[in-house]
Amino acid sequence: MIQLKNVSKYYYSKGMIASGITKVNLDLDIGEFVVITGESGSGKSTLLNVISGLDTYEEGEMYIEGKETSHYNTAEFEEYRKKYIGNIFQDFNLVNSYTVYQNIELILWINGIPENEIKERVPKIIERVGLTEFTKTKVAKLSGGQKQRVSIARALAKDTAVIVADEPTGNLDSQSAGEIVSLLSELSKDKLVIVVTHNFDQFADYATRIVRLNDGRLIEDKMLVPPAKNKGLYESECGRIKVSNKLKLGFRNTFNIIPKFLLLLLVFFFTTVSVAAIYTNYKESENASDLLGYNAFFMNYSDDRIVVKNKDNQEITASQIQSIEDTDNVKLVVKDDELLDRSAYIEDDYLSFYGYTYPANAFTEKPSYGEAPQGGIDALISVTKEDGAIMGDESDVIGSECSLMSEDGETELATVRICGIKYIDTDNDEYIGDSKIYLSEEAMGALRSSAFCQYSSVRLKAGSKTLKSTQDYDSYRLITTEKVKKGNVIVPQEFNDFYNKGKATGQPMDITVSNMYFNKEQRFKISAVTTEKNYNKVIGKDSYDEHIMDVFINPADFNALFDGGIYQISVFADDSHDVDDVKDSLRSMGLRCLPLKDAIMQFEEDAGGILGVVQVPLLILLVVVIFFIAYFVTRLILKSRDRYFSIVRMLGMSRKDVKRILDIEILIVITIAFALFCLICLLVAKGVINIAYLQYLLDYLTIKEFIGLYVALAVMAYMISGRAARKLFKTSAMEAYRGEA
Ligand code: ADP
Ligand code: MG
Repeated sequence: MIQLKNVSKYYYSKGMIASGITKVNLDLDIGEFVVITGESGSGKSTLLNVISGLDTYEEGEMYIEGKETSHYNTAEFEEYRKKYIGNIFQDFNLVNSYTVYQNIELILWINGIPENEIKERVPKIIERVGLTEFTKTKVAKLSGGQKQRVSIARALAKDTAVIVADEPTGNLDSQSAGEIVSLLSELSKDKLVIVVTHNFDQFADYATRIVRLNDGRLIEDKMLVPPAKNKGLYESECGRIKVSNKLKLGFRNTFNIIPKFLLLLLVFFFTTVSVAAIYTNYKESENASDLLGYNAFFMNYSDDRIVVKNKDNQEITASQIQSIEDTDNVKLVVKDDELLDRSAYIEDDYLSFYGYTYPANAFTEKPSYGEAPQGGIDALISVTKEDGAIMGDESDVIGSECSLMSEDGETELATVRICGIKYIDTDNDEYIGDSKIYLSEEAMGALRSSAFCQYSSVRLKAGSKTLKSTQDYDSYRLITTEKVKKGNVIVPQEFNDFYNKGKATGQPMDITVSNMYFNKEQRFKISAVTTEKNYNKVIGKDSYDEHIMDVFINPADFNALFDGGIYQISVFADDSHDVDDVKDSLRSMGLRCLPLKDAIMQFEEDAGGILGVVQVPLLILLVVVIFFIAYFVTRLILKSRDRYFSIVRMLGMSRKDVKRILDIEILIVITIAFALFCLICLLVAKGVINIAYLQYLLDYLTIKEFIGLYVALAVMAYMISGRAARKLFKTSAMEAYRGEA
């Protein structure tokens, strides 16, 4: 039994007090069909909301089965609503994208009813409201009267003692309204049904009691038919939603509106690619700081050195270099900036050299022996006498041609002719202890190619296979030798397997090169395959075992393949004080400049890298920006779902559960987006589709990175749904409910 004693409810808004209801006295019981009526604004809804625990009251007392409720807090009222109240609304509050069955199933899931019971109960209830043939129809396709039947069925499913309905016929034509009224009247046999209407006539034939309000006061309370039985309110069973059902709801919500799903998928696919691209960019900048390097030269000359690139990583043209050289206060332009920091090695009859490579124009002194580099393959070495690099007479060394090898002595970088020797005076304070070799343009070009080879992703497309080539031993290395004619390559024996008929000789092989600056593809003809027997003959070396996997190429072809041009240069100012002027001039020419004197300051604080220091905050900012874009787009897409969530909250789902369902939904979408990304990557890796940019990304992404990417996305999903849920719950369940009621 529900009892109201002198209950008053006031509304406070903008300093004004409006009275909702004033001193209402009412006793309501099972078996009644109570119709509350009155003019618009007379307090009908207010009274109904107080009875159904949606609104609090300021004065008087309300008793539920004898229990006083004025001290109830929000949670206690929610509990009360869950146990006793079933709601029917003027605008139905159904989930339009769910079927009739699913709408009723939803409330039973929320109340933790066992699955077998649900399967039994739902069809019966649907039959009771006469909608059996629409069981699997989406609610959106039903007429108003049918929708109201569904919402009655939903209230029935929960089997509460009290059913409240605010203007349930307000949106219906008179025939549908009549049907709904008789259905409600039928329910009142073993329930308490309270209906609010401004149109009493519709209910006149069925009402057992009429309550009339005027200006918040009860002006009429007439029993038309006395209630048949008087058994008191009973509590409906209510538990918590099961984890399995939360999962089911998450899946259902993901896919039940396909355009919404596709849009979300698009957003998260974009997010995935962006995050991967940002990561790659970061890796690339690490690579770039490798290009900048870190060595004695760097320390010695750094404060007047500016590293210069084009903004869009385009090649630096000869005319650009000319105008840079013509800029005031520019002392020297080093075209092969990335080569400044490489060390090289010579082991020859009279020479055992180890030191750094420099362009010839960086040598401005007078040689101790021979002459300064004049071009071609001229090279001058600068060493201390004590070093013991020159074995024997200087004249034996001058004019000799020798191979300039990589640091580890494995790869031949260039052939050089020693044109001069500079002995460093160890008494001089300027001595910094490193040997150097100054190289002319041609040798520099060869070095440049080898550097680009190292920083590029190289692929060999041989017949049916696409193979990755790196400079590692266990990979298909590209080795230059004059033994191969231009336009040809000599490949390992196993390449036979990649071609029809098992014969590679005479077949084409493509080499593709991609790096941060350029992409190239070149076709070669396989002139021979190496075998243990023919190796010495075709390559002219003995060590077949060490070269089983090597792919041989003519040096000129190799250089053409990797000599993409000049992309990063170093500019030296006359004086470190001029650096800022020079930088300003270069920037006004549209170039990107990194004065090392600025970078060095940070470099000393953080040995992590130069460009790293500059770029990491920017990358973090970018990730944050992408997060917010993804968040806002997600919010926008989920906006249509606010109504869904206010419905499930009204049906009694807790905030935690609502968040969990949202988590599951977004996680599913992110997982699919990620899987899609992986699939595309896989196809690119297998060479099925050709997207140069992705291929480039893939070089930086290992399994570890893919896992990291997924974890990052999952965290993002969690945060996005967290934020969205917080937004949803900013308005309390009461407010959301009231807004709908
Ligand atoms: P009815 O449902 O009979 O049309 P209501 O119960 O909605 O009437 O409203 C009763 C009175 O309370 C009206 O004067 C109305 O302006 C006022 N009222 C209702 N809700 C609010 C509210 N949220 N804030 C301020 N005043 C309200
Ligand atoms: Mg109203």
